[in-house]
Amino acid sequence: LSDRLTETFRNLRTKGKLTPADVDGTVREIRRALLDADVALPVVKEFTAKVRERALGDEVNRALNPAQQVVQIVNEELIGILGGQQRRLQFAKTAPTVIMLAGLQGSGKTTFAGKLAKMLEKDGHTPLLVACDLQRPNAVNQLQVVAERAGAAIYAPEPGNGVGNPVKVAKDGVEFAKQKQHDIVIIDTAGRLGVDAELMKQAADIRKATDPDEVLFVIDALTGQDAVNTAKAFQEGVDFTGVVLSKLDGDSRGGAALSVASVTGRPIIFASTGEGLDDVEPFHPDRMASRILDLGDILTLIEQAQSAFDEAEAAKMAEKLATEQFTLEDFLEQMQQLKKMGSMKKMLGMLPGMGQMKQQLDDFDEREIDRTEAIIRSMTPGERRNPKILNGSRRLRIARGSGMTVTDVNQLVQRFDQAAKMMKTVARGGVPNIPGMGPV
Ligand code: GDP
Ligand code: MG
Repeated sequence: LSDRLTETFRNLRTKGKLTPADVDGTVREIRRALLDADVALPVVKEFTAKVRERALGDEVNRALNPAQQVVQIVNEELIGILGGQQRRLQFAKTAPTVIMLAGLQGSGKTTFAGKLAKMLEKDGHTPLLVACDLQRPNAVNQLQVVAERAGAAIYAPEPGNGVGNPVKVAKDGVEFAKQKQHDIVIIDTAGRLGVDAELMKQAADIRKATDPDEVLFVIDALTGQDAVNTAKAFQEGVDFTGVVLSKLDGDSRGGAALSVASVTGRPIIFASTGEGLDDVEPFHPDRMASRILDLGDILTLIEQAQSAFDEAEAAKMAEKLATEQFTLEDFLEQMQQLKKMGSMKKMLGMLPGMGQMKQQLDDFDEREIDRTEAIIRSMTPGERRNPKILNGSRRLRIARGSGMTVTDVNQLVQRFDQAAKMMKTVARGGVPNIPGMGPV
């Protein structure tokens, strides 16, 4: 996603003011970038519509750097969808706080249960893990291992008591926590490979039986377009108070985060970033937006945009120079400018790409400029604009009029031809606009 968006904003580099066409092009690219990142289509549509509306509005027109403003808008909208502020866990007024985990099989519930327990212990809590995944033969054992690694207590069904009845285990677990003074209960539940009515009912029943303070929906960040359907199914089937985005250490840029947050309106509370129990962090919407946008890179890009814009202007000027005819009038004007600005050599030394010309004009002293001026002043405007018409009789007339010889006139025309060629060469290389020099 980031690469695509970076490319998108790179396209804005050379823009000063944004036209509606620029905005449409950019929005199209953002749309494609989000779809590439597997953000769900309805989410992409809503998002780009908002960005477009704002990008066409006044705030962008008034902005010093409209391209940067568009990035800002995209960033703000992303943060908005991702929940704005960082959301913390809600604790019960009277212990124990009950936190239930729900999600598809393999999404990372059991692993996260251990991570959460460890995090909470660090904060001085005494969490109890409750093993309600009685679906897979090894699930209880897996939670036992996780609990041990986290140094947390676990409540698991004993043979003959509650096996096969996850709702009873959940209820018993909460009771157990009350007796043993655990201030937090973390309920690990079963998942299926896909959305499943029986699974939903089981999770909903556990929720009803334990009345959790938080129901956290765990979703694999690598989930693609399915993220929307899965999240909606869990919201309708169980409902949840927050989201845990797992496996953010994978390739994902966070497309699933955007989809889930957008369609459910539920905040993402934690990001899980590895298999280890310490690989977890509170979810920060602004950081996620930056991750999606790779904002660091983009802001650098946009900073470069302004100078790139200036370069583009200079290049446009140079191109004009290259295509438009360079006339003797321009030549004369240039001479006068150069004379005004002092030493011609010094002047030429300041122009990149002018070394060759400087050498040629090394002996071009100011008196010569005066003579050149005299010759050009003896030409008709037509001759100045188009020196190609300077035949023998015209040259003779000009020589007489300026008090010079025909050889002088010939030399000037030759020098002018060289200068004109030089101008084209320099123009192709892109000469910056030198203040006071007019068109270079
Ligand atoms: P559950 O079925 O929802 O309980 O999922 P598990 O907790 O058993 O996790 C399924 C697999 O994903 C396991 O192999 C975990 O080690 C792995 N896993 C869980 N969370 C993460 C994570 O944040 N990053 C990575 N890379 N792997 C994870
Ligand atoms: Mg599990």
